[in-house]
Parts: sequence; C-alpha cells; structure tokens
Amino acid sequence: MYCMLNRAKIPPADDHRKQTMDGPSQILPTTGENRALVDNVHPGGWVNPEPATCYNLVVIGAGTAGLVCAAGAASLGAKVALIERHLLGGDCLNYGCVPSKGIIRSARAVRDARRGAEFGFSCGERAEADFASAMARMQRIRAGLSPHDSARRFRDELGVDVFFGTGTFTGADTIAVQGKSLRFKRAAICTGARAAPPPFPGSGEAGYLTNETVFSLTSLPRRLAVIGSGPIGCELAQTFARFGSQVTILERGSHILPREDRDAADILKSAFIRDGVRLALDTKTVSVARKGDEKVISAEHSGKGIEIVVDEILVGVGRAPNMDGLGLEAAGIAFDPQQGVKVDDMLRTSNPRVYAAGDICFPYKFTHSADALARIVIANALFMGRQKSSALVIPWCTYTDPEVAHVGLYEQEARDRGIGVTTLTVPLTDVDRAVLDGETEGFARVHLKKGSDHILGSTIVARHAGEMISEMTLAMTSGLGLSAIGRTIHPYPTQAEALKKLADAYNRTRLTPFVSKALASWLRLMRG
Ligand SMILES: Cc1cc2nc3c(=O)[nH]c(=O)nc-3n(C[C@H](O)[C@H](O)[C@H](O)COP(=O)(O)OP(=O)(O)OC[C@H]3O[C@@H](n4cnc5c(N)ncnc54)[C@H](O)[C@@H]3O)c2cc1C
Repeated sequence: MYCMLNRAKIPPADDHRKQTMDGPSQILPTTGENRALVDNVHPGGWVNPEPATCYNLVVIGAGTAGLVCAAGAASLGAKVALIERHLLGGDCLNYGCVPSKGIIRSARAVRDARRGAEFGFSCGERAEADFASAMARMQRIRAGLSPHDSARRFRDELGVDVFFGTGTFTGADTIAVQGKSLRFKRAAICTGARAAPPPFPGSGEAGYLTNETVFSLTSLPRRLAVIGSGPIGCELAQTFARFGSQVTILERGSHILPREDRDAADILKSAFIRDGVRLALDTKTVSVARKGDEKVISAEHSGKGIEIVVDEILVGVGRAPNMDGLGLEAAGIAFDPQQGVKVDDMLRTSNPRVYAAGDICFPYKFTHSADALARIVIANALFMGRQKSSALVIPWCTYTDPEVAHVGLYEQEARDRGIGVTTLTVPLTDVDRAVLDGETEGFARVHLKKGSDHILGSTIVARHAGEMISEMTLAMTSGLGLSAIGRTIHPYPTQAEALKKLADAYNRTRLTPFVSKALASWLRLMRG
C-alpha cells in the first residue's frame, strides 16, 4: 500500500538503523516534498562537528523537547550539543501532529462540501475525496514547516553542534555518538516515545500500520481497522472514513475517548456514526492473521468470538519510551521499562547532572507539554531554577470533528480528592455563532470549587474547542476566577461566548432568594 521502493534517502553514515529496536523509520514515498523535508531534518552528507572540550548542555533527541532545550539554552549563551539518530522534529513534525492535522483539514473540507446543500450551494451529488492529493498537500505543508527544525538552522543560526547518530551514555558525564565522546556539565534526555508493538499474536506476520507508516500511504485502504479509540485512533478513524475507507474501531472499553466525559464522547460517537465509522465497543482484539491480501482480526465481543476482515490495520494505542541504546545504567539513571526515565518534580533524573523532558518521562504526551517541560529543564539545569512540572496547567485537545478539549480536573477527579464541585454546562445550541455556523453539536463545561468561581477544570466540545480551551487555561494559570471571564467582553457572535455564558450561569447561582428579594424591593422603591 505504501510504496516500499520509493523511499526518501536518509544518509547511511549512521548507526541508528542497527540500534533502534523496531528498525529504521522512513519518510515515504520519495516525492520532492519528502526529499525537501529530509534535506532539512537529516541532510545527506552531514559531517558531525568536532566536539567541544565540555558542553553546558548535551541534548539527546531532537523532537519538540530536544529542539526547545537546545534552542533556548543556546540563545541564552550556553554551549550546546544536540544528538538525533533519525529526523530532527521528532514525532510532531514527521509522524504526528503535523501530518495528522494536515489530513484532518482535508477530510473536514470534504465533509463540509458534502453538507453543501445545507449552506446553499451544490457540490454534485457527493463530493469525492482525493486521498492522494490530500496526502500530497500534507507533505507539501510538512516540508514547508521543516526549515524551522532544520539541522542547518540549528548549526548556523543558533550555534548548536548538531550530531547525527545514537546518543549513548558512557559515564556520569559523558555521552558517545558516532565514535566521538562528548563531555557535559548537564544533559537532557529528550528521546520521546514510539508506538509499542501490539500485544496480540500474529501482528508481525499480518503487518500493521502505526503513526510511523500511516502517513506514507499512497492509496486509501478500502477497509481499515483502527485498534483503540484514544485521541490518535479517533482522529485517524474519522479522517479515513471521510476519505472513503470503511473504518471499524475496535475498543476494549464501552465508550470511545475513554478518558473524557461520557456525554462528550457520546457526541463524538454520533458524529462517527454519521461519518460511517463502525464502532466495535467492548471488543478485545485477540489475534490477527494474513489471508492472501486480507487481514483477519479475531476478537472477543461480549464473550463471543467475532472476525473482522480488512485491508489494513492501524494500531492507535500503546506508546513505549525510547530508551534502547541510551546506556542509562552507565550514567546511573533510573528508569521504568513502561513509564520511561524517572524524574523528580524538577525533572532531574537520579543522576543530578542529567534532566529529562517530553514523552520519555511525562504522562501527558503532547507537543505543548514537551515544550513547557523543556523550558523548565533550561531554567533548572542551567540557572539553578526550582521550577516544578507539577505546577503546569496542561490542556489537551482531540482534533476530531467536533473537537474535544479539556484542562484541569474532571468532576469525578475533584470529588475523589474530596473537593466540593459545582458543574455548569452551556450547550452550543444556546450560542448564536454555533447556530449560524451549523455547529451546534457540543457544549462548554466548567467545574468550579463549590461556593466560589475558582475554576477546577473545563471540557469543551466544539468544532474549534482547541482554540476555545486556552481562555480557560489562561484563567487557571493566572488564578483568575470564572467571574473574570464574565467581565471580559467577547465579540458577538463568536463560539467563545459560550464561556461568557458559563460565567452568566455562575452569576445566576449567586442570585439567592434573599438577594433576589432585596433587588426587587429596591427596584419597587425606585418606581415610587
Ligand atoms: C499521530 C500523532 C498525532 C499527534 N498529535 C498531537 C497533537 O495534535 N498535539 C500534541 O500536542 N501532540 C500530539 N502528538 C504527540 C506529540 O507528537 C508528542 O507528544 C511529541 O512529539 C513529544 O515530543 P518529544 O520531544 O518528547 O519526543 P519525540 O518527538 O518522539 O522526539 C524524540 C526524538 O529522539 C530521537 N531519539 C530517540 N532515542 C535517541 C538516541 N538514543 N539518540 C539520539 N536520538 C534519539 C528520536 O529519533 C526522536 O526524533 C501526536 C502524536 C502522534 C503519534
């Protein structure tokens, strides 16, 4: 399906192919755009520099966390080395956020075109998706974003020593890469995570897609099984269904997006059903097998065995920390095989010279949290800072249609911590802009500490919930209550008015019978 012969060449003068556990990842197919991407993030003929005598900071891994560590430290005057065994930009640029959001946008356009009649235009009977063009658009955009993460930019503009190869600790303050030894005062492990091999038998022989291969597809699978209904599974399932694949999600639990509020997930479930996604809930994948060109999934549903026959399987669950080849023992760095490198609240490992940031050490595996942690590492590792990762307020968003965004505590979490909660919800049917846009599926919800306007958490389900959640995050980060959002003038008509309406709803809860009576008496008095 994705063309194995057409691969953008990644320079061979490297040992990472032998050392990565699951073999080299590829940027396929060999289009001009993908060549341009690789030329930026792993240029051919790159010569590793001669190491400095000692570095202020050596960063292993050049995904978001590593790039932010390296760029931030170098711009403050530190002597920095950055080691990457594969592609600068890591998952986000090459195999994650960027390609997924690129094709999500195309799929959303297809869906909008199909709704043409509702908005007063005709687009033929049914807008036809062109998968290959959508993938080509994504590749063009990804390549266009890549100069920012490029090896040349880091070397020439930021003064960072960029090494390609696997970084391996050889002692408490030394790291080897491609036969060279780098001595450091501080190091940052930013090696990220990758798709874990699926636990069910047969997957190796049958073959399956992960985030490292799905964006290389050149033709649309007619039937696609998506294992797992977390954010990655949900985003790609809906996207491929909109492109025209017959998609089945297999989920062990009884609802999709298991982490989110049930009613939020239910809204998405209805959207999925409308998009033609089949949901196999309470379904445990037992094994997979190849039969000719087809893949047969054996699963258990309510105690009964079922079979699902597809052309491709996308594994959307399970991430494993990238620790292979790191030599953590040589530097006395404690780790957990599942959770990754162990850090304290200030992101320091058990070796006081070594810190970690990003997916390798943190449960909230997002680009924006990797960025935030990297900034903490710079402050704590180089400038004797005492910043704590536990102080971060981290929002997240699943970029389905509608999007599901969240920040802070869920209601049950707050109750489990013994905090009294008042929950307020405004449906988007009450928000004029959502009505005008035909985007009323969703709601804005806030959890307040009982008896106050202190925001504990918020969930927003809306077409652009990811944009709207930042207002709640700002309030929480700055210690502003919901009343501050109520005092803020929101342009009319916008969907963000839903948040102001939450504040209005809060104000109404303060209108006790006594206050109502007092106000009514005053007004009666004014009438004379
Ligand atoms: C499909 C998908 C969609 C996503 N969408 C979003 C989204 O919309 N928003 C969001 O916030 N997050 C999203 N994420 C998550 C996001 O991509 C990650 O949280 C983020 O990339 C983590 O950055 P990182 O720097 O910790 O690790 P990575 O990006 O994984 O980078 C680690 C780097 O270290 C290198 N490396 C590993 N070991 C070594 C070694 N020993 N020596 C040298 N180099 C090494 C690797 O090659 C890699 O380049 C998505 C993820 C996926 C899979």
